[in-house]
Amino acid sequence: AKRAGRDCARFFLRAMNQALDERLDIEAALRHALSNGLLQLHFQPKLRLSDRQLVGVEALLRWHDAQRGWVPPDRFIPVAEESGLINALDAWVLDQACAQLAAWRAQAVNVPGMSVNVSPQRFHQDDVAAHARALLARHGLAARDLTLEVTERLMLDDNSRPREQLQQLNEMGVGVSVDDFGTGYSSLSYLKRLPVTELKLDKSFVRDLAHDADDRALSSAVIGIGKALGLTVVAEGVETEGQRDILLQLGCEVAQGWLFGKPMGAEALVAWMTPTRR
Ligand code: C2E
Ligand code: CA
Ligand code: CA
Ligand code: CA
Repeated sequence: AKRAGRDCARFFLRAMNQALDERLDIEAALRHALSNGLLQLHFQPKLRLSDRQLVGVEALLRWHDAQRGWVPPDRFIPVAEESGLINALDAWVLDQACAQLAAWRAQAVNVPGMSVNVSPQRFHQDDVAAHARALLARHGLAARDLTLEVTERLMLDDNSRPREQLQQLNEMGVGVSVDDFGTGYSSLSYLKRLPVTELKLDKSFVRDLAHDADDRALSSAVIGIGKALGLTVVAEGVETEGQRDILLQLGCEVAQGWLFGKPMGAEALVAWMTPTRR
């Protein structure tokens, strides 16, 4: 029994070491990618459901690694968060996203708004509000052109540093969106205390809308909360017409998903915006 226990411990340690090695590998490769221009942004359209008008795009980070191929954000963002690299990464994304929006405007391409994901960590270590203000000024953008997507984790943080930045962003007129709304915590009181402008109905609620009465009830509740508080509710992960129809019925105004457009490079988005008429 003692021997089996030792083997088990050895096996466990080896598995842990492998996981750690992989994390360190990814971190090093990601650091290299960031400083050598190997990261890109893709942009996913956000549409008003009533008339399919484009209301903005969400910037999503894309990484193609020579050895690994395309690495999905769900694999490298957690590594970046643990290693602290996320601050530099998110700062780069914000900068690139603002530059891209300004470039589109310069070409008379009317992308009405840009949404950027910001990890909670960044609000603890950097001054996101000051960075956003500087970027908007540098690129000649208006505050209402920009929305920052943050998770509920940040909203429930008692630390004053993030809270002050959210206040400042709100005073400037930058949008604050609660990403993955409803998946993390049950407390809603922060919606009263913090200057939120948008709720994103998580795609886990949208997926089974057509078949699952509970998901319909939850989606309806989220949309109701949003409306009652004067917030925009954006449904994520809309893949089918059935889902879209139900969301419309439930009073949801804006949606994102493969039904309308996948995340795409800057040029592809312009092509998507100018369909050939026939
Ligand atoms: P998220 O912010 O919730 O982004 C939505 C995710 O849903 C994206 O995954 C998007 O590609 C995917 N998606 C969009 N439409 C559909 C659909 O119709 N069906 C399905 N099944 N999925 C859809 P992606 O691009 O893989 O990003 C995953 C997560 O990584 C994001 O979730 C976000 O939390 C994080 N992330 C991405 N870019 C950044 C970034 O620049 N900074 C930070 N901090 N996080 C990022
Ligand atoms: Ca997001
Ligand atoms: Ca989300
Ligand atoms: Ca997510």
